[in-house]
Amino acid sequence: MPNIVIAGAQWGDEGKGKIVDLLAARVQVVARYNGGHNAGHTVILGDRKFVLHLVPSGILHPGVLCVMGNGMVIDPWALEQELGELVAAGIEVDDNLVISDRAHLILPHHRVLEQLSEEARGARKIGTTNRGIGPAYEDKTGRRGVRMGDLLRPAALPGKLEETRRHFERVCRGAGHAPDADWEALARDLAAFGERLGPRIQDTALVLHRTIARGYSILFEGAQATLLDLDHGTYPFVTSSSAGAGGVATGLGIPPTRIDGILGIAKAYTTRVGAGPLPSEIGGSLEQEIRRRGAEFGASTGRPRRCGWFDAVVTRYSVRVNGFDAVALTKLDVLDLLAEVQICVGYRHDGRVIEEVPADLAVAEACEPVYESLPGWTTPTAGIREWSALPGAARRYVLRLSELIGCEVGMVSTSPDREDTILRRDSVVASWFA
Ligand code: GDP
Repeated sequence: MPNIVIAGAQWGDEGKGKIVDLLAARVQVVARYNGGHNAGHTVILGDRKFVLHLVPSGILHPGVLCVMGNGMVIDPWALEQELGELVAAGIEVDDNLVISDRAHLILPHHRVLEQLSEEARGARKIGTTNRGIGPAYEDKTGRRGVRMGDLLRPAALPGKLEETRRHFERVCRGAGHAPDADWEALARDLAAFGERLGPRIQDTALVLHRTIARGYSILFEGAQATLLDLDHGTYPFVTSSSAGAGGVATGLGIPPTRIDGILGIAKAYTTRVGAGPLPSEIGGSLEQEIRRRGAEFGASTGRPRRCGWFDAVVTRYSVRVNGFDAVALTKLDVLDLLAEVQICVGYRHDGRVIEEVPADLAVAEACEPVYESLPGWTTPTAGIREWSALPGAARRYVLRLSELIGCEVGMVSTSPDREDTILRRDSVVASWFA
């Protein structure tokens, strides 16, 4: 298979885990390029459920090398817990997992900083997961971060922690908060992590270059999604990393010329966790019903996700900024039984219709959705594996979405199960499988 990127097209939770898992059977390497343990990828294998926060979903495939890239931020406590759970579930975690020596660490004081920052925002909270992700990326761009490779040089650790400690104490002083932290104990803990994780910590960009040179194929796995991308998302209600396909180059050290294809993952409707604009939010009992049918509760936090109709404006924007070759449309089955489905095709603002995602949050928040209605299919699609077996109205819905976003829908997912996926034979995705 060529080297393909999997990136979220909406606000995350599109079902990337399932699609990565499906494609992972065809590659030798799965490499994740951004985010931390705020991600939660759910993979269902038969009657077993795995929720992966840090480790690439490829770990469930024996023989696949999993790479955690330099664009990630890693809480070593959370990592060890996840590895322990995988091993307890009988999953092989051996030399099939390597971690970039340049990935930054999330340390316990980052959680305190996140809490202080959210508190200071009052009613304008971002609604973050409070796992220290944002402050760890702030330390990275502030050039005071501690990296995975530093764990391998314990004698230098106290010095490496100095700048982040100073910053932490400055912020705490400003907020009237006691800067409680035992930095000596932290340095000792980190050195112990270095001993246990040591052989996994490598120059992963080099590992990837070598695997490409050998002719192996790589699946690049993104966490979160385009509308949460630090640059291209609905700023400031975004995550702190490059979640779009552009993150592959910076987050793994892969030249853009080595990327052969990009698959966007979009839900047949739209969801969003946390605060920020969601113009096609459904509201009322229908939203509750879709949330229930789609089990729209965060895999990492359990928070209920806000649910909206498919937003063609947002997804078309995603197609453009990522350059998707195709889209995999997931969770079509969640809309089964609705007599009518709506598609958001534009936003009304100040008496005119906008067809692009506004950069200005105030405009995005004031937008009213413009809908196009299509008949629903009112019969179950769950478990359908052939395009021709879908009800006509469901096919028309998918084709209309494809037309509106300007990108082919090459795959349609009809249940959480790996097998319940339609691969459209005339699509570019089918050629990747060939
Ligand atoms: P990710 O972060 O993008 O990997 O998405 P999540 O794992 O947080 O959320 C996707 C959820 O939807 C998971 O529980 C999946 O098992 C489930 N899922 C994926 N595809 C489908 C589908 O086609 N239909 C249904 N009903 N559920 C799906």
